[in-house]
Amino acid sequence: ATPVSILAGTGRAAELGVLFRKGDALQHLSKVDLVAFDKTGTLTEGRPAVTAIEVTRDCDEATLLSLAAGAETASEHPLARAVLAQAKARGITPIRVERFAAQTGAGVEAMVEGETLRVGSRAFLQGAGVAVPPTDPSPATEVHVARGALYLGYLSLSDPLKPDAARAVAELKARGITVALLSGDAEGPVQAVAKDLGIDMAHARLSPADKRALVATWRAEGRLVAFVGDGLNDAAVLAEADVGIALGTGTDVAIEAGDVVLVSGAPTSVVTAMEVSRRTIRNIV
Ligand code: ADP
Ligand code: MG
Repeated sequence: ATPVSILAGTGRAAELGVLFRKGDALQHLSKVDLVAFDKTGTLTEGRPAVTAIEVTRDCDEATLLSLAAGAETASEHPLARAVLAQAKARGITPIRVERFAAQTGAGVEAMVEGETLRVGSRAFLQGAGVAVPPTDPSPATEVHVARGALYLGYLSLSDPLKPDAARAVAELKARGITVALLSGDAEGPVQAVAKDLGIDMAHARLSPADKRALVATWRAEGRLVAFVGDGLNDAAVLAEADVGIALGTGTDVAIEAGDVVLVSGAPTSVVTAMEVSRRTIRNIV
């Protein structure tokens, strides 16, 4: 493609809500053969809601919510906002905590009355030495709560798919592109989303470093990889991919790391971006 056609393609894409921040991204995108999506906030709305609460003998629902909401007060994670919304809806005051710390892709911890309160994934609590009892496989995301070494229970949250997510996956597959799902979430919700959307390759329980390593492996195998994500924890993998595609609805950190920004955050904009790219390369914008 000539500089003039790249300029025209970039302009056409912008009209369609796709911002190419780097000229070579427009050229690379036409050759991408694997598109990996983040799950939460990218294929799902990123607005989870609490659907159930399970407590052990050592706790009750109101206490669990008060503790969870207290620990999540300073977190910007969508799960944190859902926990706080549920506490508010039930008229439960979040407990006051000290020394809040967020663990990316894992959960949050804080001190309450001299004990460490941990709220997050099963793996996060287990890593801190908490015995988390098994739960039945479920499509819901579980947010587990422990005070010190004592396990107290969990909240189930569900996050609806974006309305055009299935169409985006189908259109990419129809173009011969491999579609993958990379998520920090647990196996249950990740497999449920993959099944609903027809994604064959899904990886759960990935840290931000794991996501990046997986993309690096694919690239080493000779694949040309685009990664699509919205989150704080997606910056490294967005930078690693041949083409990093950030959602305009996502965090500033992700947008900064992206070669391409999808203004509306709609997954089908990935297909639009690819179409403009292919047409530009063939000089038919
Ligand atoms: P994804 O890769 O799907 O966007 P994240 O990497 O943001 O998800 O988070 C992965 C998992 O870590 C979540 O599914 C959740 O179990 C846990 N987690 C992360 N942050 C929090 C938080 N603030 N509160 C509770 N759980 C959290
Ligand atoms: Mg996300």
